[in-house]
Amino acid sequence: MRENYTLPRLHLDAPLKDGANIALDKAQAHYIGTVLRREVGESVRVFNGRDGEWRAQITKIEKKRGALKVTEQLRAQQTSPDIWLCFAPVRKHRNAFIFEKGTELGVACFQPVLTARTQFPKMRMDKDKAQIIEAAEQTERLDIPTVRAGMTLTELLSGWDKNRLLIFADEAGDAPRAREVLSTFSPNTPCAILIGPEGGFTPEERETLRRKECVRPVSLGPRILRADTAALSLLTIWQTYLGDW
Ligand code: SAH
Repeated sequence: MRENYTLPRLHLDAPLKDGANIALDKAQAHYIGTVLRREVGESVRVFNGRDGEWRAQITKIEKKRGALKVTEQLRAQQTSPDIWLCFAPVRKHRNAFIFEKGTELGVACFQPVLTARTQFPKMRMDKDKAQIIEAAEQTERLDIPTVRAGMTLTELLSGWDKNRLLIFADEAGDAPRAREVLSTFSPNTPCAILIGPEGGFTPEERETLRRKECVRPVSLGPRILRADTAALSLLTIWQTYLGDW
């Protein structure tokens, strides 16, 4: 049973320990005081992605600043399963969707990958980071997924750690079914999922990927899914066989 989940939850950067006093910046004070209408003496939950989750009491709340006193640890730090999501950036709102839902589904690391047919190579990382933190706050995660700088598919493959299996969502139709492939992996195998852009992978990219020993091409059935749907579907299958569901 989850306790305390009705207390609002806030991500902070400051180190969290018993008795720590934490200054709230303008956005945080606005959120607690104006949006949530909490007052001095009331409690919230705070986490920083490193020190677990703590109860903190509001000791000051003004329009542009405020302060909290950390009072009690509610949960020790725990990390999400080791699953990465490598994806070709899509339209802005669809990237936001991938970040939000991927965070809910337990992604540890987002890796934007620029493929030959990637149409939207530029990403607004600051906005995406805020989206990820908000999703982590909502979903009761204690860790915040990392977002790596974008790189080309060639760079990704040349620096790849061969102990991590790269589950390649291959829309061409001749790859084995995802569930048949993932059900054979041993538990705790480090994995990453690779999703292509709306234009798909080029024949050369497919060939390069398929030649790599750590790559496992998989099919998600006879229908072509949009990149965001494919990402979330494959994450769900991964969770079913190898994750923490
Ligand atoms: N324009 C391409 C489709 C790209 S869909 C075409 O018509 O073939 C975007 C990405 O989602 C793909 O590159 C692939 O990684 C993934 N995807 C979509 N549907 C899929 C399926 N049925 N099986 C495996 N991967 C799929």
